[in-house]
Amino acid sequence: MNFQYRNPEIEKMPRPELEKLQLQKLKTEIGYALRTPFYKERLSKTGIKSPDDIKTLNDLNKIPFTAKNDLRDGFPYGFLSIPKEEVVRLHASSGTTGIPTTIYFNKDDIKNWAFFMARCIYATGCNKNDVFQNMITYGLFTGGLGFHQGGEEVGMLVIPAGAGNTGRQFKMMQDYGTTVLHATPSFLLHLETKMKEAGISRESLSITRAFAGAEPYSEDTRKRIEALLKVDVYNSYGLSEMNGPGVAFECQCKDGLHIWEDGYIAEIVNPDTLEPVKDGEIGELVLTILCREATPILRYRTRDLTAFYTEPCACGRTHRRLRRITGRSDDMLIINGVNVFPSQIEEVIMGMKEVGNNYLIVVEKEGALDRMTVKTEVSADIFMDDSRPLNALKEKIKETLQTSISISPKVELHESGSLPISEGKAVRVQDMRPKDV
Ligand code: AMP
Ligand code: ZN
Repeated sequence: MNFQYRNPEIEKMPRPELEKLQLQKLKTEIGYALRTPFYKERLSKTGIKSPDDIKTLNDLNKIPFTAKNDLRDGFPYGFLSIPKEEVVRLHASSGTTGIPTTIYFNKDDIKNWAFFMARCIYATGCNKNDVFQNMITYGLFTGGLGFHQGGEEVGMLVIPAGAGNTGRQFKMMQDYGTTVLHATPSFLLHLETKMKEAGISRESLSITRAFAGAEPYSEDTRKRIEALLKVDVYNSYGLSEMNGPGVAFECQCKDGLHIWEDGYIAEIVNPDTLEPVKDGEIGELVLTILCREATPILRYRTRDLTAFYTEPCACGRTHRRLRRITGRSDDMLIINGVNVFPSQIEEVIMGMKEVGNNYLIVVEKEGALDRMTVKTEVSADIFMDDSRPLNALKEKIKETLQTSISISPKVELHESGSLPISEGKAVRVQDMRPKDV
């Protein structure tokens, strides 16, 4: 295979040198962190008062983990390390409550993000001759702008298509001769179904590659998309706390995701004991960002379960590879690429007096897409045979959920006391999607 490298001197850097570079960048990042209210306080308890207190990469172990809750508690500016007038952008993602985790960027942070994103895209064999249709949400979600900037950095023609509307997507693919796609894996499968329905021939499209991420999917799903759409599919991993996409990506070997270790320090720990797992064992990924000044985040518990590959990759890159994410160590659901915590749904419905005491969230596949149904009991004084107030309540729940979690689920109302009650811990979520990861 003819591998191409955007930053060959870094991508193939011998590990001792790479670790030296990490140490130097970690010290710089600690300097940024010490300027934030949150880490100033937290690091003072560990005896780290200046970057020079970090002598080796092992000194990272002295720093406590940072969790999503910390980011929420620090909202809005507890993690900001620069004066507000230097900030040029923010992105945000949902948390377990209504408070979003918000990440700020200065101009250099945005450039760094594009630099890593471009490295990912280039590693799959793309170049400036490609036409890249970015079929993912733009806005606070990082997938849209993250890939957009990376694509431009590579020099591709980037179409900011945004998510949804398959008819419009096909038209753009045909009009502009799209060669590369980016979407969630479920949307890519959905696209294929719609392509058949619309009678669009594969021959009328020029697509050769697709980037798929933002949600877990299996190797079988990858193979299925590749066979149906006749494209090479590359797995893309990232999270907004670590900029978004661009953290780890598959190379042309399509066997594990290289995590860019000059941008991130990766650890994998047992989610219960928080001790490091043995090399090759599955555990929770913990990340420290080394490429962002405005919002430094150290030892972030991603809650994503994965393992390091122990073998080097055939492409010659020295940056370690992660296995595809196999699940989460918390209860976050990912519905068509959108993160949802059951607690956010509970907050909405339990705040309505017409709603009874029990509810159940059911997630299923409807064709290729995820479908969420919120089943809730109505309060005892509501009559089930009067449909008008019931329909109004359904609409109210739907609209409120749409506003708070950006998802419009199906809502089912049930008579008070009629939903099953479990004997032990309440089972609030039934995830019926096939578990083939
Ligand atoms: P967000 O912060 O909204 O970008 O969501 C980040 C989360 O999406 C991650 O922590 C993962 O749980 C999930 N995610 C992103 N990319 C992938 C992927 N390629 N495979 C599995 N899960 C992913
Ligand atoms: Zn590789």
